Amino acid sequence: MASNTCLVMRIVSASVSVAKKAGTIVRDIRSKGSLGVVEKTGKNDLQTEADRKAQRCIVASLTRRFSGLIVIGEEELPKEEQIDENLIENGFSEEVDKSVCPEALKDVKMEDVVIWVDPLDGTKEFTEGTKYLDHVTVLIGVAVNGKPVGGVIHQPFYKFDTETQLYVGRTMWGVVGLGAFGFEHKDQTQGKRILTTTRSHGTEAVQETLAAMEPDEVLRVGGAGHKVLLVLEGRVSAYIFASMGCKKWDTCAPEALLQAVGGKLTDVHGNVYRYDKDIKHMNTGGVVAAYRKHDFYIERVPQSIKDVLPSQ
Ligand code: AMP
Ligand code: MG
Ligand code: MG
Repeated sequence: MASNTCLVMRIVSASVSVAKKAGTIVRDIRSKGSLGVVEKTGKNDLQTEADRKAQRCIVASLTRRFSGLIVIGEEELPKEEQIDENLIENGFSEEVDKSVCPEALKDVKMEDVVIWVDPLDGTKEFTEGTKYLDHVTVLIGVAVNGKPVGGVIHQPFYKFDTETQLYVGRTMWGVVGLGAFGFEHKDQTQGKRILTTTRSHGTEAVQETLAAMEPDEVLRVGGAGHKVLLVLEGRVSAYIFASMGCKKWDTCAPEALLQAVGGKLTDVHGNVYRYDKDIKHMNTGGVVAAYRKHDFYIERVPQSIKDVLPSQ
């Protein structure tokens, strides 16, 4: 049983183990080969059986464990009479449990918390064979009074073990005021300005904004979680997406980890997003995320782009 007395730490602890279980579900569905792809209402917006099953696992596991907890998942799913018990994960993370609760989070109550779940971020990449599988992440973000304070990013297809022929996977977590764990930050940009952005949802505005930043390199990869991971690890200088399209479940967990190490994720105006339960899902002002020098990127976004991307 999770033993930390602090609610946020108990939720993050459970989320670490639930995200790993969701990752197992995602891997299993891929190895069986039948992805069950459906096109959602938006253009270029897919959903697979892995998105659906991973979300059922996360939502059911967390709401059963934490009575009264509000959990908002990306996928709209029919309400199930009976939850498949095989989808329930009851574990916790010893590492999180033995960590000290930041002073600012000691008195958080259940009604202050909203969980934002992207059961499979990078669905497009998930459906495209093996080349982009490491772009896929499972995201569980913990918001308290509208602010992201904790998060888990699980990467189910991290490292292929040639002996077992299985992916090893890895799980990163963070709490604002405590830090972020499960990865190493090492600046690998060698003084270059390396930007990361979408590979499948590009627009003219996205292009124009990147060009205005005069990058040395642009890395086009899938997933909001994966792109923030590149920022967290120091493989790129910033994640820039000057377009609507990302939603609260894409940014809540990554933003919490980034904030936990002193980084920043905002819209193109430099305003932070809020994660209250009734907030609109779309991040209308785009995404600018950087480990350091966040202001520089905000200043470089052309005014004409800022004019058409409203803050929340
Ligand atoms: P990407 O960087 O294209 O992988 O997008 C990051 C996240 O935002 C993913 O969850 C995408 O599904 C979502 N996203 C970004 N742009 C769009 C869009 N135009 N339509 C639907 N989803 C989008
Ligand atoms: Mg997503
Ligand atoms: Mg998703």
